[in-house]
Amino acid sequence: MAPVDVQQYDYIVLGGGSGGSGSGRRAAGWYGAKTLIVESGRSGGTCVNVGCVPKKMTWNFATINEMLEVGKHYGYDIPEKVKFDYTHFKNTRDAVIKRLNGIYERNWGREGIDLVHGRARFVESKVIEVANEDGSVSRFTAPHILIATGGRPNVPKVPGAEHGITSDGFFELEELPPKVAVVGAGYIAVELAGVMNAADVETHMFIRGEHFLRKFDPMVQKTMTDRYDAAGVKLHRNHSGFKEVKLIRDGKGKDRLIKLISHDGSELEVNELLWAVGRAPEVEDLHIDIPGIKLNPSGHIVVDEYQNTSVEGVYAIGDVTGQAELTPVAIAAGRQLGNRIFGPPELKHSKISYENIPTVVFSHPEVGVVGLTEPEARQRYGDDKIKIYHTKFTAMFYDVLPAEEKPKNPTEMKIICAGPQEKVVGLHILGLGVGEMLQGFGVAVKMGATKQDFDSCVAIHPTSAEELVTLR
Ligand code: FAD
Ligand code: NDP
Repeated sequence: MAPVDVQQYDYIVLGGGSGGSGSGRRAAGWYGAKTLIVESGRSGGTCVNVGCVPKKMTWNFATINEMLEVGKHYGYDIPEKVKFDYTHFKNTRDAVIKRLNGIYERNWGREGIDLVHGRARFVESKVIEVANEDGSVSRFTAPHILIATGGRPNVPKVPGAEHGITSDGFFELEELPPKVAVVGAGYIAVELAGVMNAADVETHMFIRGEHFLRKFDPMVQKTMTDRYDAAGVKLHRNHSGFKEVKLIRDGKGKDRLIKLISHDGSELEVNELLWAVGRAPEVEDLHIDIPGIKLNPSGHIVVDEYQNTSVEGVYAIGDVTGQAELTPVAIAAGRQLGNRIFGPPELKHSKISYENIPTVVFSHPEVGVVGLTEPEARQRYGDDKIKIYHTKFTAMFYDVLPAEEKPKNPTEMKIICAGPQEKVVGLHILGLGVGEMLQGFGVAVKMGATKQDFDSCVAIHPTSAEELVTLR
């Protein structure tokens, strides 16, 4: 075989998702580094194609259906059953994503970044090979190589598990199934079960514990699980898992039928099964054993606080490292790394802080969190150093509802303070609009705000957010 030319770059980025794009653009666009992005799928990665973007659009779609219900109580003449066209929405959503794919690629082109479509793998410690469509291969080398290959959904080892879909498959559905089973208890399970339930799908959730979102504050776990129950989600709590999944009838939507057989012998037939049981790092075919990059027991790439892997000149960021798997985290880590490698001397120690990262679960209603949970705060500071402020109420928007409907729409807030200064070390909010509310409070917590700082900010009335600056 003829020797393959090895093309030289300053920076090679494996994966054109949130982190890879953020880092490549910083290196090339700000500092003029000769940069190559290798992307095996659609530009923009998980967030754009099968993550944040289609998820949030679907959340918007489902939220409209919920709002129509409330609208009736405001006197709007809304028919009992409002029809919607999910296929129309799905096509519109796909078009938005396609536009974003183009925007990503145009941004890279404008900043002088080369893009190669294909699957990258190491063939030497600093040489990357990509298979071309015509069967040939291309090779590239650089003193700095970034692994930003993200992750993919897990599917449990259950006979017949392949008859279910994951979040990737959810975004391919042309129509909503009338009856669905969602297995899992994290962000994705709660978000996708929430949208389907709000869009009138009979939604069964199978969770291993009494509550879902078990990594969140107990307040969030309990109120949100109870709220889903009240909103009609059929919760199968303390579920022991499935013995087998059988495809009864192949097809789409209502024509598809799947039987779930649990370990306890109970059975349920649904039109679709969604596995949402966590994600795994995408490292399998990278051949990272060639440079000798270390993985931790969960299979994620081990990095230090500067995103260095165990091999000099090879870095990793984002989901492939398992560090706070969120798009803005991957982007921020990527940019800081670009600053550190290619920026001016004063940026040579740039790194992202993983403390106090605000996050929102786009459930129904949303959940917003920054900082420690109550058990974490008690463990870190001691019970006697912690003060909790808590409130639960119905947002004014829902005042028009009959009394029995109001508890179904909770707003709840908890501020966790530590030490004599009552520094805010945890903030947990759920309810209408908290997703937008959290960003500003995230700044305050990041700045080290105390309860007194919160209280000294004059309330904005009438809002739900004002409760956060008036809590007693
Ligand atoms: P990715 O964005 O996954 O990018 C990795 C890229 O690498 C991919 O494009 C992949 O094709 C490519 N690749 C993989 N292997 C190779 C290879 N060998 N060669 C070349 N290319 C390769 N985060 C939020 O902050 N907010 C949200 O609302 C949110 N919602 C989410 C909803 C869902 C359903 C999911 C699944 C995730 C969501 N996330 C959300 C998480 C967020 O999408 C990820 O944290 C983020 O995309 C991680 O970015 P990344 O750059 O590490 O990886
Ligand atoms: P998570 O880690 O959030 O949740 C996975 C869940 O799966 C766990 O809660 C666990 O529940 C459950 N689980 C694991 N194995 C099984 C099993 N065999 N049977 C039943 N349940 C099981 O992962 P996700 O895949 O939901 O999301 C991945 C990451 O993506 C998130 O951690 C988050 O960082 C990011 N993301 C962010 C979003 C946002 O910002 N809004 C939205 C979506 C994803 P338990 O242990 O309680 O039983």
